[in-house]
Amino acid sequence: MRTWKSSAPPTAAIDGDPVTPSGRTRTIALIGHPVAHSLSPRFQQAALDALGVDARYEAWDVPPEELSIAVERLRSGDLLGANVTVPHKVEIMRFVDRPDALAERVGAVNTIVNRGGALEATNTDVAGIVRSLEAAGVELQGKRVTLIGAGGAARAVVVAMRSAGIERLTIVNRTPGRAAALLDLGGGDLDMRYAPLDASDGTFASSIRTADVVVQSTSVGMAHGPAEGESPVPAEWFRPGQVAFDLVYVPEQTPFLAAAEAAGAQPVGGLSMLVHQGAESFRLWTGMEPPVDVMFAEARRALAERQHST
Ligand code: NAP
Repeated sequence: MRTWKSSAPPTAAIDGDPVTPSGRTRTIALIGHPVAHSLSPRFQQAALDALGVDARYEAWDVPPEELSIAVERLRSGDLLGANVTVPHKVEIMRFVDRPDALAERVGAVNTIVNRGGALEATNTDVAGIVRSLEAAGVELQGKRVTLIGAGGAARAVVVAMRSAGIERLTIVNRTPGRAAALLDLGGGDLDMRYAPLDASDGTFASSIRTADVVVQSTSVGMAHGPAEGESPVPAEWFRPGQVAFDLVYVPEQTPFLAAAEAAGAQPVGGLSMLVHQGAESFRLWTGMEPPVDVMFAEARRALAERQHST
């Protein structure tokens, strides 16, 4: 990984099609802190190489106090744009020129496109959620959905579910105040409820049992996370015919997915969301159709290598 400061100084911005051959290698940055664990550099670079785009996808480890300087660097003509990850997705909205309506609604940015020195920003996590469920053959319209978690990723889930026309959304979270903030995102037309993340509370169990789709957006079950090896939902609460979607993708088969599968529910893993949000970002930077199969294969390879090395 190169540090973001090691890059060349800003040069004049280039107008027009971002991948028009310019005789020099362009850069796409991943801005986060830390970023060393990210799979995005692997599968984005594989996609750029597969389509012959002369660009390099670089991870920039940017501490919060250096965020504004890193964003200014994106205005250079050498930069096609950036992905943004934890912890900068909210804070970076202050520094870009044009956050779109979707980014404003979610309250977070994960993709920046450099248009001749002006920084357009959006959120492709919403598309990543919708596409990964579509790819699994899941129809959302009119469905009852239970969302566990109320952090940054959950905000994108609420916006995605609302746009898909679901009937009911129950938010389950450990901290009630964070769930309350999400209830405001739903708008008046969606039936939204809250249940505490407490296995002894009957509303939590019934929200899972009556759901068509259960989305798991906490970090519970994540490798090296606060609750590695655990599932927030016991297997006996799932049933056949349900869909269980876990945003966690390390490990690929999470305890939540294993519990759902054991009960006959359909599991959908978070790697699909990761790749599909990345594919949408790729489309915005390059104007080209992203090679999703290439991205998936490389993401899986990188994940397998990481699991074997730990
Ligand atoms: P975040 O903003 O920090 O929110 C974390 C959420 O997890 C909160 O709801 C928090 O509850 C809950 N939580 C954490 N530890 C818990 C525990 N021990 N017991 C119960 N609840 C716990 O994080 P985020 O950005 O939303 O990310 C959440 C997960 O989604 C991460 O694992 C991340 O890797 C994954 N993710 C995946 C993708 C993808 O593309 N597949 C994209 C984004 C995120 P409180 O509110 O009570 O603290």
